[in-house]
Amino acid sequence: MSGNRPEQTVEAVLARLNRPKKVVVTAGMPYANGPLHLGHLAGAHVPADICARYNKMLIGKDNVLFVCGTDDHGSTSEVAAVKAGKPILDFIQDVHTIQKSTLSNYDISLDNYTGTSTPGTIEVHTKNCQDILRKLHKNNLLEKRSSKQWYDTSADRFLPDRYVSGTCPRCEEAGAYSDECDKCGAKYTPDKLLNPVSSISNTKPELRETEHWWLDMWSSTDLLVEWIESKKRFWRKGVYNEVINQVLPCYSFNKEMEAQYKEVKADLPKHKSRFAPGGRMVSQFKSLVDLEAAREIMKAAGIETDLEDGWAYRSITRDVKWGVSLPEEIDPSMNSKTLYVWPDSLIAPISFSEVSLKVKGQDPKEVTQYWNDSESKVYQFLGQDNVFFYVLMQATLWLGSQDNPKQMPQQGDLQLTDVFGSYHLQINGEKMSKSTGNFFTGDQLLEEMNYDSDQVRYYLALLSLSEKSSNFDLEHFKERNKFLAGPLNAALEKPISACIKKFDSVVPEGKLMEKAQKETYKIVQKYTRQMERAEYSTLLYAIENYARQINSLFTQFKTHNHRTHASR
Ligand SMILES: [Zn+2]
Repeated sequence: MSGNRPEQTVEAVLARLNRPKKVVVTAGMPYANGPLHLGHLAGAHVPADICARYNKMLIGKDNVLFVCGTDDHGSTSEVAAVKAGKPILDFIQDVHTIQKSTLSNYDISLDNYTGTSTPGTIEVHTKNCQDILRKLHKNNLLEKRSSKQWYDTSADRFLPDRYVSGTCPRCEEAGAYSDECDKCGAKYTPDKLLNPVSSISNTKPELRETEHWWLDMWSSTDLLVEWIESKKRFWRKGVYNEVINQVLPCYSFNKEMEAQYKEVKADLPKHKSRFAPGGRMVSQFKSLVDLEAAREIMKAAGIETDLEDGWAYRSITRDVKWGVSLPEEIDPSMNSKTLYVWPDSLIAPISFSEVSLKVKGQDPKEVTQYWNDSESKVYQFLGQDNVFFYVLMQATLWLGSQDNPKQMPQQGDLQLTDVFGSYHLQINGEKMSKSTGNFFTGDQLLEEMNYDSDQVRYYLALLSLSEKSSNFDLEHFKERNKFLAGPLNAALEKPISACIKKFDSVVPEGKLMEKAQKETYKIVQKYTRQMERAEYSTLLYAIENYARQINSLFTQFKTHNHRTHASR
């Protein structure tokens, strides 16, 4: 070949592959409140499993950890246990056993399926959470704030999150929680919830003052922007867009000041402005320095600006017993409280990795080779709804636990991870929901409908959940499976069986046709690129086309019937 063009052979493509030193693959952690449904498998466990298997081929199975476990703490599982009338640990153990069996039925090749409260894991996990909290506290990234929370006087406890339900102050639907509504996505302070009822005792709670630690993500803004920008070409569009729009710093001002703003607009650092609800205008900048410079100019022009930093401060402690305890020595007044379930679950994959190393007979201390080495990679598969937490909150926890939180991670620090978000799985065109009857657990398809797990895995991987909500359509599922069992199977099976039957199991000597060589080169190139990006849907459709080409060549040349032709 001429010039400096890379060599166009399969061997050359394989030689150019990026091979990390170690890889951790994580799949979104299911709450310990019920069986795994098809949405869990489609959005988290199946794609993560494909990624783990690929990386094991690439760098050897001893260099890859594939970890997951139940997300045991928080209100979701505790309230479900109360409703089931079981002690929390028994309830979680039962749910965990059922989930573990489903994952095994689907050949999800986890090194270990544990849970944040599982004996043997909780000890490691508590230490990891507390270590990070100590460092965040030392770096002044935990701010103590007072707020009002619902309190159940009959059960003598606070009711954060799902421990209380009521009417949403925005959409006025029932079933809203302490500070958010699942139906319309509203977020509000607990005192705004209407008609509150305790999920523990069914009584009406009262508001009481309480103190919590709030995590400061705002201070990490510039590092977060720099990191996310560096992922623009690699991450899925939905993931990148969501977090970059959240993290680019903004202020707002009264839109009646638009004329004054236009007079100074040219003097401001580069920014984008738009109208926002409530009679406001919002301006978005590239960095905190630019934002602050702009605020000075606006102030001098008589325009008052408010920081739009609501996203950047989240309370990360709760007044409940069911959770990871806080480090005692930092602040004794906080000792009755526990860690909020979100940071708990973001730290959990590190704890799961340590436990998995132990299960594999390796030294748990090797965990730093996976999480704290710049030549290693961590790939996380989760629902698009959770991207905010896995990107922004997790990165802040990691950066904030460095000796110097004002720089990108150095060798030995926790390294920032790669996040793969999946959109919702719909069933026959509708949102999956128990109330509408279109809800499928993973086991139902295998046990009641007699499908093979490979058939379901193949179809779930074909859906393009990386780009948009996709539909599990039973007719389409059957149709694709006919292709899997028919032409796709034939493309692999026919040449192999011809080789066994007609050529004594030895691939006969011969010159590869130019077309076959070209198409094979193309599919290998596509394979490596899409596997790296976890774009399995695009890849599977390309493989279907390649299979059609094999079948057509096979029919055209009937190599297996003409021994002399083939061996010429
Ligand atoms: Zn609502």
